[in-house]
Amino acid sequence: MWVLEMLTSITHKGGRASIGSFINITERKAMEERLRQSEERYHTIIEEMEEWYFETDLADNILFYNDLFLNGLGHSHKELTGMNFQHFIKQEDTDTVYKIFHQIYETGESIRNVPYDFVRPDGNTTFSEFSIFPDRDREGKILGFRGVGHDITERKRSEERIQYLATHDTLTDLPNRLMFSQLLNHAIQAAQRYKRQLAVIFLDLDRFKIINDTLGHEAGDQLLQAVAMRLKQKLRAVDVVARLGGDEFVILIEEVNDLEQVATVARNVLSTVIKPVTIMGQECRVTASLGISICPEDGLDEQSLMKNADIAMYFAKEEGKNNYQFYSENIKAKSIERLSIEANLRQALERKEFSLHYQAKLDFKTGAITGVEPLLRWQSPALGSVTPLQFIPVAEETGLIVPIGRWVLRTACTQNVAWQRQGLPPVCMAVNLSIRQLTDTTLIEDIEAALEDSGMAPNLLELEITESMVMHNPARMIKVLSKIKDMGVRLAIDDFGTGYSSLAQIKHFPVDTLKVDRSFILNVPGNSEDKAITEAIIAMGKTLSLTVVAEGVETQEQQDFLEEHACDQMQGFYFSKPIVPEQFADLLRTHVPKKQR
Ligand code: C2E
Ligand code: MG
Ligand code: MG
Repeated sequence: MWVLEMLTSITHKGGRASIGSFINITERKAMEERLRQSEERYHTIIEEMEEWYFETDLADNILFYNDLFLNGLGHSHKELTGMNFQHFIKQEDTDTVYKIFHQIYETGESIRNVPYDFVRPDGNTTFSEFSIFPDRDREGKILGFRGVGHDITERKRSEERIQYLATHDTLTDLPNRLMFSQLLNHAIQAAQRYKRQLAVIFLDLDRFKIINDTLGHEAGDQLLQAVAMRLKQKLRAVDVVARLGGDEFVILIEEVNDLEQVATVARNVLSTVIKPVTIMGQECRVTASLGISICPEDGLDEQSLMKNADIAMYFAKEEGKNNYQFYSENIKAKSIERLSIEANLRQALERKEFSLHYQAKLDFKTGAITGVEPLLRWQSPALGSVTPLQFIPVAEETGLIVPIGRWVLRTACTQNVAWQRQGLPPVCMAVNLSIRQLTDTTLIEDIEAALEDSGMAPNLLELEITESMVMHNPARMIKVLSKIKDMGVRLAIDDFGTGYSSLAQIKHFPVDTLKVDRSFILNVPGNSEDKAITEAIIAMGKTLSLTVVAEGVETQEQQDFLEEHACDQMQGFYFSKPIVPEQFADLLRTHVPKKQR
């Protein structure tokens, strides 16, 4: 038992005495002990828990806190006591913070998981999350606030890192497609709100695949990094450049005042990309093709702006690469046409939609039909008749020209033998080849098979190739062409004069025939320049012992001129248009060479 003893000394009957009283305080003592233990428990919890803890008064002045809170904020003990909460909150957040405290005061309800970004004295930010509770007195009146929370900086940073990885391209560190999409959507909204224009520029590298294939992927990666770096340096900080994947980049230019401004950016981009880069000890040079769409003219949403810039970029490729094109209705029409050609071309062969028309070649000396050129015709159920000029480039790009060309070769040879079987004189069959066929590994086999299966003599087959095809990779081409020559097949250079080769270069190729391009013949004898060129080509062709053929002869005058200048053969509408096999057989049967007339 605990007692409280009170003793008072008094004088009693002349002597000293004491009066004593005892109060049993066992109960009180037990209460005190409980209080002490509670204090200690509370202290241990506050100091040892992993959470941050603080208390403020109603004016948000810090009254109490634990060590974690102190350390987290980076202030000294002296500074923190009495400091207002606003002091370590970002300026722009003070309103929100005030509102939260106010709401708790008004409702008396606590608020959980409030994010607080604390600015430390060293300038760094500590991210935290707090639950705030009202602090009440005995009557329930709110005296201040308590906060329990924790540091979420680490989590926030890894969230940011994940966010960064999700929105950036790891190779070049540029924003990726996802982020570009977000930025573009914001920009479109801003452009519409403020009635401004913006430009989207699609960029595709022109010879990237070659570099990747010949120097390897690592070199390809380095090149992409170099291009990314240059683009970033060349553009203003406010412009966005992102990598969409592969060798495709996209640029966003906001606040466009006039198109010339965008054209200038495009020109700058072209000139910065083309500068040589040294990669793995090799100097490489790439070019780019750019397509531009403008908001609002070419689209009001992400999808149409991106699609139209892409269409314009394809057009830039078709226009010879290393250039930029603005999107237009005209370009769109061409691209739709191209797309539908491509879609329909894929089944054209198996659906037997192709046929060959045959155009005669006339020999000037004898007046006889000595040769014939099979020309491909496509009658598409969906598109109607499509000209070779429209579909051959698509067939080449898609690689479809290889099976199509194989079919042409086989059909032409079979036809040739069929005419001979009808008792008609043998004619040389001049089949057009495309670059894709020439670089295809199956070409030699295809020629062999066509000859063997049809039974046509190899010297009746002539293959027409163009200058640009052989100039592409002369050493390799000479090998392929020599193999063809060894089979006894003849070779012709088609459309001569339109490429960049000279006769001196042609000399190195094992060719037999030179076909002067139609564009020169068109203006002879009227245009003196074309006349001179044609004369020179004929003369030089003769010195190299080549058979010279004039293409596109449409008039008597042209024919006379060519005959006069000792051209060997001619081909053109004047003598015969390309015609179906039966008509050609009739022509061959009824034609009387002038020598026999
Ligand atoms: P090309 O080999 O130079 O064929 C001659 C083109 O000129 C043909 O056009 C022919 O119809 C046209 N032509 C002939 N004489 C005249 C004339 O007097 N006046 C005019 N204005 N034109 C004339 P086509 O049939 O449209 O073929 C165009 C091109 O398509 C050909 O030019 C050739 O490069 C390509 N081509 C045609 N068939 C094939 C093929 O089977 N394979 C490949 N790879 N290309 C082909
Ligand atoms: Mg030809
Ligand atoms: Mg030609």
